[in-house]
Amino acid sequence: MLTRILRWREAVCVALLVAAQHVLASEKPDFLTANIDSSVQPGDDFFQYSNGTWLKRNPIPRSESGWGVSELVRDQLYVTLRAIHERAAAAQAPVGSDEQKIGDFWRTAIDVDKARKLGIAPLRRELARIDAAKTLPQVLDAAFVMQTLGTDPFFAVSVDQDRKESNVISIYAWQGGLGLPERDFYFNDEKNIRQIRAAYVKHLARMLRLLGRSAADAEPAAAAVMRFETAMAKASRKLEDVRDPLNNYHRVAPADFTRVHMPSVNWTERLAAWNLSPEYVVVGQPEYFSALDRILRQTAVAVLKDYLRLHLVSAYAEFLSPAIDAANFDFFKRVLSGQKKQKPRWKRLIDTEAGFGSVPEGIGMIVARRFVAENFPERAKRRYADMTGAFIDAYGERIRKLSWMTEATKARALEKLAAVTAKVGYPDRWRDHSALVIGRASHCENMMNIERWSFRTAIARFGKPVDRTEWRMTPQTYNAYYNWSNNEIVLPAAVFAIPGVADEDIDDAVAYAYAGASTIGHEITHGFDDQGRKFDANGNLADWWTAEDAAAFEQRAAVVVKQFDAYEPLPGFHINGKASLGENIADLGGLVIALDAFKKTEQYKNNVMVAGQTPLQRFFLGYSLSWMDQMREELLRSRLLSDFHAPAKWRVLGPVSNVAEFYEAFGVTSAQRMWKEERERAAVW
Ligand SMILES: [Zn+2]
Repeated sequence: MLTRILRWREAVCVALLVAAQHVLASEKPDFLTANIDSSVQPGDDFFQYSNGTWLKRNPIPRSESGWGVSELVRDQLYVTLRAIHERAAAAQAPVGSDEQKIGDFWRTAIDVDKARKLGIAPLRRELARIDAAKTLPQVLDAAFVMQTLGTDPFFAVSVDQDRKESNVISIYAWQGGLGLPERDFYFNDEKNIRQIRAAYVKHLARMLRLLGRSAADAEPAAAAVMRFETAMAKASRKLEDVRDPLNNYHRVAPADFTRVHMPSVNWTERLAAWNLSPEYVVVGQPEYFSALDRILRQTAVAVLKDYLRLHLVSAYAEFLSPAIDAANFDFFKRVLSGQKKQKPRWKRLIDTEAGFGSVPEGIGMIVARRFVAENFPERAKRRYADMTGAFIDAYGERIRKLSWMTEATKARALEKLAAVTAKVGYPDRWRDHSALVIGRASHCENMMNIERWSFRTAIARFGKPVDRTEWRMTPQTYNAYYNWSNNEIVLPAAVFAIPGVADEDIDDAVAYAYAGASTIGHEITHGFDDQGRKFDANGNLADWWTAEDAAAFEQRAAVVVKQFDAYEPLPGFHINGKASLGENIADLGGLVIALDAFKKTEQYKNNVMVAGQTPLQRFFLGYSLSWMDQMREELLRSRLLSDFHAPAKWRVLGPVSNVAEFYEAFGVTSAQRMWKEERERAAVW
C-alpha cells in the first residue's frame, strides 16, 4: 500500500522505505518527477526546471486565462461540488432548508432559457430608481442603495473590526468605484494599456446599447463616463499607497466627514437610515472623498446616472441574459485576461462560491457544510493543525536567534506569535443562514438576495461583541488568509490538496513546502510583514517596535523591494516591489520557517530519498509545485498593474534564490542565472 510507505511521521525503517520506492516507481511515476524539465538547470530557472514538463504538456485551455495547480484542484472540486448541488436540486426539500437553498440556487443559475427570457428584467426596479433621479442627492440615494447590493459606486462602505480596537466593530469608507481594475489602467501610457482604455469605452457603449440606448447616444455617453471615472482615478491613491494600515486609517465624526470632506453627503443621516449611529467613521483616504465631492458636483447628473447604470449592470451581468453576459465576458475576460471562450455556467456558479465575499459567506458556506463532512478527514485536519504548531515553534526559535532585533522587541514579537490562532479546515461553528432567502425567480434575484443578506448581516454586527469564530473564506477554496484583527490564520480544507494525490501519499518534504511554506508559514508571516507588524498580539494597530528595530526591519524589507522591482515578467512591465512587499516577505518567511520545521522530521533527519531525490530537493520541488501555473499575457499584464501578489513564477524564483539550502540542494554555482552573492540575498526572518 502506497499510503503506508509514505507516511513519514511513523517511525519506519529507512531501508524498507528505499526498497519500497522501487515498487512505487514501477507502479506510478512520482508526482514531482513527472513535472520536471531536465533540459533546464535548476540553478538557471528553478520554476521551469521543476514544472517545465507539466507546463509544456498542459497548455492553457481556451476557457481559461491561466492554468496550473490551483485549476487542477478546482477541477477536482467541480466534480464533488456539482454532485452536492445536483443532489440538492433533486431532493424537493422543504422551503428554508439548506437543501432547498442549494438546490434552487443551482437550478436557477443553470437555466439559460429563463435568463434569456428575463433579459434585464431582474434589475428593472433598481434601474428605475436611477432613472428617476433628477438631482445629485437623488443620484446619491440610488448609489447608497447600490452599496447594499454588493457594488461600490463612487466609494466603498463596509462594516468590520476596528483596526485600532479589534473588540469593536466600525464603519469604513474607502476609495473605490472604478470600472477598470486599478487606478493605473487610467493613466499608464504603454500601448496595450492604451488599447484596454479604448476597448473599455467601446464596452461601456455596448452595455448602454444593451440597456436600450441608440448608438448615437451611447458613444458620447460612454466617453463621458470614462472622463468621470478618470477623474475619480486621479483622486485615488496608488496600489502601493493603500497598503499602509496607519496612513489609511482616519477616524472622522460623521458630521465632520460631511462638513470637512463631503458636503454633498449627510453622513449622519445616511448611516442612520441603515440604523448605524457611530461616533466616527474610519475614512481610508480623506483626500479622495474631498476630491470626489468636487467631482460629483462638477459632473452632469445624466453622466452620474449612466455611471450608476453601468456599474449595476456590470456587477450582475454574469447572472443576466446570455447577450449581457457575453458582452461582459468580452471585455472583462477576453480583453483584460485573454480568455478565449466562456466557461460553462455551472462552473462559474461554483467559482462564485469560493474565496472572499458575500456569495461564499452566503450560499458557499451552506454548501460547505455538506462538502467538509464528505471531503476532509479528521486525519488531515490533525496533520495540518500539528504542522501549524510546529511552524509557530520554528518561527519562535528564529525570532529568538535574530541578530538584528533587540530583546525588548523580540519579547513583543514572541508574545504576538504565541497568540496566533489557527483555524484549520472548516469553522467550528457554522453561521446562521436562516434569514437568507433563495428562490426560483431568477439567478440575478438570488444573487441580489445574497448581497442584501450579507449587507444586513454586516450592519447587524455593529455595536455587538465581535464574533471571532467567523470564517471569511469557504472551506472549498484553494486559498488561505491571515486576519490582522483576530491575529489568526485561516486554512480552508481545499488548500492542502495536491491534485491526483491522496493526502496520505504526500511525504513530509512536500507537505512542509507545498501546504506548509507557501500557505501555513506564509500566512503566519503576514502577521509580521510590513503591514502585519504594525498590529499587536490583540490585533490592534499599535507600535510595539523600538525605533532601531523598525529601521532594521525597513532596511531588510528594502532588499526585498529592490529584488522584486528588478524582475520584468513582460517587456516594460516590472513587478511592483512596494505593492507586493507584504506577500514577498510572507513567501520568504514562510519558506525559511518551513525549512526549519521540516528539519525536525524523520524524513529529513534520516535523509530518506524518494524517487531519487534528497529531502531538501523534494522540499524545494514541493514548494515550486504550489506555484505551478501559467498565465496568458493579457492576464499577466493586468495582474502586474493590479495585484498585490507577484506572478507565480517569481514567487518561486525570488524566495528560493535567497535561501542557502536551495544552493546546497541543487549545487547552484555562481555561473548560473539564479545565483546571488550572499550579501545580496534578502533575509527578514
Ligand atoms: Zn499572502
